[in-house]
Amino acid sequence: MATAGAAQPRAFWVAGRPVTGEESFEVTSSWDGSVVGTVSVPTDQQVEQAVAAADAVQYDFAATPAHVRAAALDHVSRRLAERAEEIAQLITAENGKPVKWSRGEVGRAVSVFRFAAEEARRFNGGEAQRLDTDPGGVGRLALTRRFPRGPVLGIAPFNFPLNLVAHKVAPAIAVGAPIIVKPAPATPLTALLLGELLAETELPEGAWSVLTVPNDRMPSLVQDPRLPVISFTGSDTVGYAITDSVPRKHVTLELGGNAAAVVLADWSSDADLDWAATRIATFANYQGGQSCISVQRVIVADAVYDALAERVLAKVRAQVTGDPADDATDVGPLVSEAAAARVADWVDDAVTKGAKLLTGGARDGASYAPTVLTDLPGDSVLATAEAFGPVLSLHRVSGPDEAFAAVNDSRFGLQAGIFTHDIQLAFRAHRELQVGGVIIGDVPSYRADQMPYGGVKDSGTGREGIRYAMSDYTYDRVLVLTSL
Ligand code: NAD
Repeated sequence: MATAGAAQPRAFWVAGRPVTGEESFEVTSSWDGSVVGTVSVPTDQQVEQAVAAADAVQYDFAATPAHVRAAALDHVSRRLAERAEEIAQLITAENGKPVKWSRGEVGRAVSVFRFAAEEARRFNGGEAQRLDTDPGGVGRLALTRRFPRGPVLGIAPFNFPLNLVAHKVAPAIAVGAPIIVKPAPATPLTALLLGELLAETELPEGAWSVLTVPNDRMPSLVQDPRLPVISFTGSDTVGYAITDSVPRKHVTLELGGNAAAVVLADWSSDADLDWAATRIATFANYQGGQSCISVQRVIVADAVYDALAERVLAKVRAQVTGDPADDATDVGPLVSEAAAARVADWVDDAVTKGAKLLTGGARDGASYAPTVLTDLPGDSVLATAEAFGPVLSLHRVSGPDEAFAAVNDSRFGLQAGIFTHDIQLAFRAHRELQVGGVIIGDVPSYRADQMPYGGVKDSGTGREGIRYAMSDYTYDRVLVLTSL
């Protein structure tokens, strides 16, 4: 941590206003080590101002007309689209993901704010219920509406510096809940830029803040009773430490996974296998494997195993690695050298214990070569942990029974992708797989931003996907009217 000086640190946002603190830190590129920006750190007093403002504005914000909140969300959506290329370049610079994927992320965030505007217009029509079905209810009417639980603390990870912040901020604005966003330390600049667009809106003071609080000072913010809702996306270690520390708060957790793609025997034409192999290779490695629904385990029916494995291998070997700012790059560096070193250790551990390395397995600084393994031993770290790197393992199974059991043989359960044309197997997968989403005909990495998204088991609780997050941020409050 440096003292703020010549580098002009980027301001954070307290109650909608840009503010600087006394200290700052640098954000560096994992590709070339260059300094992407310097970010100011809020003092305890500035954090207090943001929380107090959120607390103070909560009833006024909830009462803000829907058209005002929807207009603000539409404005942010439009402005994200107008500044898309600049924002994509910034995501690439601070996160290291190839710029073509950063452009995709910005496009998704444009949609998230637009969807939230639409939901804000629909939200909270309420419900009237007659109570005179029972003698004690004669002359009474119940009106039920949803109200915010209170100000939200949104904690975001590094791997989608814009869109996962959008998934916390946009639903909060849609329901009129004040939100304090805490971006990841590796990638705060995009969230701070989003603040510029929010600052152009007419939202009331205190409705939103973006605070670059260091991790070691997060526990007091997490425990602040004025922030009764916590929406956390990140690792299971940090997520469960948060729920353990505040068991009475409403905490939603979007955590990790080791997602499986299953290719069943009927997925056998050349076109089928080419599609599956392309999607698997792409979404195992597309941002260095640093997505919670990256393909990690590829579970293949014996009948199509050899043909599929050969295609996956060819496609992984053809991926262009290198400078993430280059339009042609498929796979860039990981978020840090430490992250790449951890992945290297885990692959080495698997190979030492008997896994076969078909391609990859080499590290260069923060970059790790796209890697394919087979015969992954059950006692290797990679067999059970979240790789969060460009590594996939191929598993041969006899058919759907073994495949579905393998999908469920994980402490995680985020999404699963099943390549089959068989509608009965599709229904069965939906019934039997312990995950938050089953994707038929594609990889587990498919996500549309309006659909419910989240996990079971150690992958978390709660759902994002605009109106599902709006539901998490609010609760039913009934009004009983009595006529005398
Ligand atoms: P992380 O858990 O290290 O950090 C997540 C956030 O928590 C960051 O903002 C970090 O600064 C903050 N944090 C750290 N310590 C904290 C504390 N004591 N109290 C409060 N906040 C604290 O995760 P990461 O490395 O940024 O992200 C990678 C993880 O996120 C992976 O496990 C990935 O699977 C998961 N993820 C899940 C989803 C999902 O929707 N399920 C999406 C993306 C990423």
